[in-house]
Amino acid sequence: MKPVIGITADVEISDKHFLNGEYVRAVIRAGGLPMIISVGIEKDVDQLIGLLDGLLLSGGNDINPMLFNEEPHSYLGEVSPSRDSSELELARQMLKTSKPILGICRGLQILNVAAGGTLYQDFHNQKEGPILQHIQKAPNTHSSHYVQVEKGSLLESMAGSERIVVNSYHHQSLKDVPPVFNVTGVASDGIVEAIEGTGEQFVLGVQWHPELLSTNGDAVSLQIFERFISECAEKGN
Ligand code: MN
Repeated sequence: MKPVIGITADVEISDKHFLNGEYVRAVIRAGGLPMIISVGIEKDVDQLIGLLDGLLLSGGNDINPMLFNEEPHSYLGEVSPSRDSSELELARQMLKTSKPILGICRGLQILNVAAGGTLYQDFHNQKEGPILQHIQKAPNTHSSHYVQVEKGSLLESMAGSERIVVNSYHHQSLKDVPPVFNVTGVASDGIVEAIEGTGEQFVLGVQWHPELLSTNGDAVSLQIFERFISECAEKGN
């Protein structure tokens, strides 16, 4: 039996659900069976989690800053309140299980907020010092900035290196990271690019998009999906 991987759908302001096909194909390529998760499931999260061997929190819009006790900065982008509440409940409950979680881009930010962390709503205006181009103008399968990887981390074991190069499509990033996570990847401007759980559970969040890079055969991206899916096969139902 293939491990069933719940992938949260992206949700537009119009309430239309969609998901970039690269997420689905990356999961299938690594041996998983994808299942797209809608909004409106927060009251039935326990039952839903019972159906899953692992959870992939996908990319998308900005997160409502009220969820980390801030009012909206003028440069906050579009938010999807229904998606926020579904994903936060799903992330909180999944973090209490031993099932693997992979958070990509917004998914990393959801993990952080679910565990009590905060975000820069727009780091160009809120973070001190020079900032790299994190909304790259190169094609989305191109890796544009470096990430310094923590020695001894899960990510280092996947990358086989303490420096990797990633793509980048974000203007929000993690600010305060709660103690349940270690920061294991940082850009040269100090922007957090990867976190991992400190416990036994496989929890990895990355700020970049390995599902896009994997279409070009990027070795680290393929490793991220292969390790995630094999953990799901081992630790899931
Ligand atoms: Mn970046």
